[in-house]
Amino acid sequence: MFETKGKLTLYRDELLGSLEGVGHFFTTRYGGVSGLNGNLFNVSFGKEDPKNVAENIRILAAAEGLPFERFTAVRQVHGDTVVRVTEDIAGARFGKPDLLIEADALITDIPLTPLLTTHGDCVPVFICAKNRAVAMVHSGWRGTAANISGKTVEAMDREFGVKPSELTCAIGPGICKKCFEIDGPVYEILRDAFPEDDLFRYDPVRNKYFADLPGAVFLSLTRAGVDPERIGRGAPCTCCRENRDVFFSYRGEKGTNEGLMGAAIWLEKA
Ligand SMILES: [Zn+2]
Repeated sequence: MFETKGKLTLYRDELLGSLEGVGHFFTTRYGGVSGLNGNLFNVSFGKEDPKNVAENIRILAAAEGLPFERFTAVRQVHGDTVVRVTEDIAGARFGKPDLLIEADALITDIPLTPLLTTHGDCVPVFICAKNRAVAMVHSGWRGTAANISGKTVEAMDREFGVKPSELTCAIGPGICKKCFEIDGPVYEILRDAFPEDDLFRYDPVRNKYFADLPGAVFLSLTRAGVDPERIGRGAPCTCCRENRDVFFSYRGEKGTNEGLMGAAIWLEKA
């Protein structure tokens, strides 16, 4: 569901939002200091002056009552690396702007340390064990094929002793099956990882395939042992034409888009 706070509009998953002790959000296009008119909300360092990105996070931090210097982000590389955020690296790219960590998933058990990933169609996956640990995943097609969400669920057990059955997850806004058109080679890679027929559609006229990326992420989580009833789903597509006013879309704007959205999750104060 969408929630407006001053100039900011944030999306939150209903199931995850109903839990106490954990916070999360997904940003939308407006309410920041980015873009030509200075009203867009971009969280991508690659898109503009990092000072604007920091200012946008300051706006978020103030709206959500979070410490700016604890926001922790990574350099996303479409891999399957899960990084544990310890005190040494809490604040990477914001409180400790010199730290550059390459990864696509973050986990932590430290309260008030928002884990932040950036998205422009790639699926955000929020994972939490109430009062114990949280994880934030950036799952594009490569990461999805490499089972990054399943590997993050495993890391929650390995690092914090949290079993998959104890987790609550949410699959946030990302590209839908109607919009995610792929070529044969990408289809082959995804199909190897997900043999389920209903994740794919072939269009013989265009000789293209379509893949259900959020659906594949859902399978990654359930295969890893997460209870399907504990996974929030049904978030809007970032690429569908009717959502262009709400979200940036790498696909929809053909790579010319002015920004990326931010997804974050954190444990409230212990
Ligand atoms: Zn769509």
